[in-house]
Formats: sequence, structure tokens, C-alpha cells
Amino acid sequence: MQPHFLGQLMLNTFLNLLLPQICPLCSTDSEDDQFCQKCLSDIRLITSPICLCCGVPFISQECEDHLCGRCIKKQIPFSTARSIGVYEGVLLEAIHKFKYNGKISLSKALVKIMASATGMQSHRNIAFEKASGAILSGSPDLIVPVPLHKTRLKERGFNQSLLLARGLAGIYHLSIDYLNLKRIRSTDHQVNLKGKDRLVNVRGAFAVKDRDAFKDKKVLLIDDVYTTGATIAECSKVLKKAGAKDVNILTLARVVNL
Ligand SMILES: [Zn+2]
Ligand SMILES: [Zn+2]
Repeated sequence: MQPHFLGQLMLNTFLNLLLPQICPLCSTDSEDDQFCQKCLSDIRLITSPICLCCGVPFISQECEDHLCGRCIKKQIPFSTARSIGVYEGVLLEAIHKFKYNGKISLSKALVKIMASATGMQSHRNIAFEKASGAILSGSPDLIVPVPLHKTRLKERGFNQSLLLARGLAGIYHLSIDYLNLKRIRSTDHQVNLKGKDRLVNVRGAFAVKDRDAFKDKKVLLIDDVYTTGATIAECSKVLKKAGAKDVNILTLARVVNL
């Protein structure tokens, strides 16, 4: 080992001992750079009653999970979509810092939240198993992140969904495929578009490279935010067309108009 390298290593170890581990959002002390208890408790978890298919939460608390009007009327290309929390407050702030401000170190804390909510990892601070995400149906064979177009990837430098999917694949002990579902057309930012325009915007935007990759596979598709479901529905259609047996969706957050 080079002497200067050894010196650097010792310095880093020394600094790690000196510097407190902090919450990546509010900078209060927190173990292992996870969100502190206050930030975690500020996340509004999505809980039953929800739509059995698309996972939308219902306003009335006086009912069981059932299909929403949209899922009854339309043919939905995925089996279930589940999200951990409402896209607001600390969760929105965390996703913005992660995605738009390039704070990729946040992915570790965000993956932990997803894993806790899906019952794959206990979290000492929060009863996340109550989140709807706990029902990870479909016992997937393969994790697939929603891909970015190469132009967007170049702009951002990373695919936020891939970082989440990779973390989850490690925890779930599942294979990940991030090469065979491709975004072949650059699309406008969905956030700037409304309802039908979002559907048109993503139509034909995805394609499968190696069709055998998804044949007879139960796929768990990962995205950061579920807004109208247009993107994940389009990805699901393409995966199904390529022979996927089943597609289930898990997103970290969901836009909820309640
Ligand atoms: Zn905090
Ligand atoms: Zn629904």
C-alpha cells in the first residue's frame, strides 16, 4: 500500500469518527445517514382503502380495498401498482434533492424506506409495514427500472429509478435488468403535461431490446413517482408484449389529489 494512500485512509477513518452521522434532510443526528424519526414520521404513507389494481387511495375510510372506477372501465396492462407515500412534504423534498439536485447519496435512505414499507427490512423508527406497499404481490422474478432516454441520462448523469431498483434488488435478492427495456424516444417532462397529453407523450416511447429477457417473467417495475400512471402503463404494455407473464409496479411516491 502506498504511504500517502494509507495516510488518506487513516484520515478518513478519523474524520468518520469525528463527524456525526446526520439525517440527509434536516441534518439532525441520525444513525447510518438514514432519515431521522421526525422526517420519517412526516411522510404520509398510502394505506388502505386503496384500489386493488392501480393503488389509488380512496377518500372514504369506511370501505375495503376495491377496484376504482378507472380500473373497472379500462384494461390496465399491469396487475398492481403500489406506492409508499404521498408525493408531498419531506418525501417530495427528498426526491427533488435526489433527482434534480444530484444528491445521489439519498438513494440509500430512500431504498431503505421502500424496503421497510414492503416488509423486507424492519426500521427501528417507524411502523412502515402498515403501508400499502407491504403487499408486494406477484413474487417477482426480475426487477426492472423505468428507463431514461439517453439524452435525459446525459443531462442528469444518472437514472434515479435505476438507483432505487438496484438497491431493492440487493435487498430482495432478485436479478435486475436495466438494459433490455429502453426509452427509444425522448419525451417532454411529464410534469409539464396534463392527463391525455401525458398518454400521447409516452406512446411508443419504450421498446424491448432482447425479447427473451422478459419472456414468462414476473416483473417488478420500479419508478420514483407515480403521477398519472401513463409512463408505467406504457412500460407495462411493452413488457407484456415481449412475453412478460405479469407486471407489478412499485413507486416510492404517488401524486394524490385528496
Ligand atoms: Zn430529518
Ligand atoms: Zn384503480
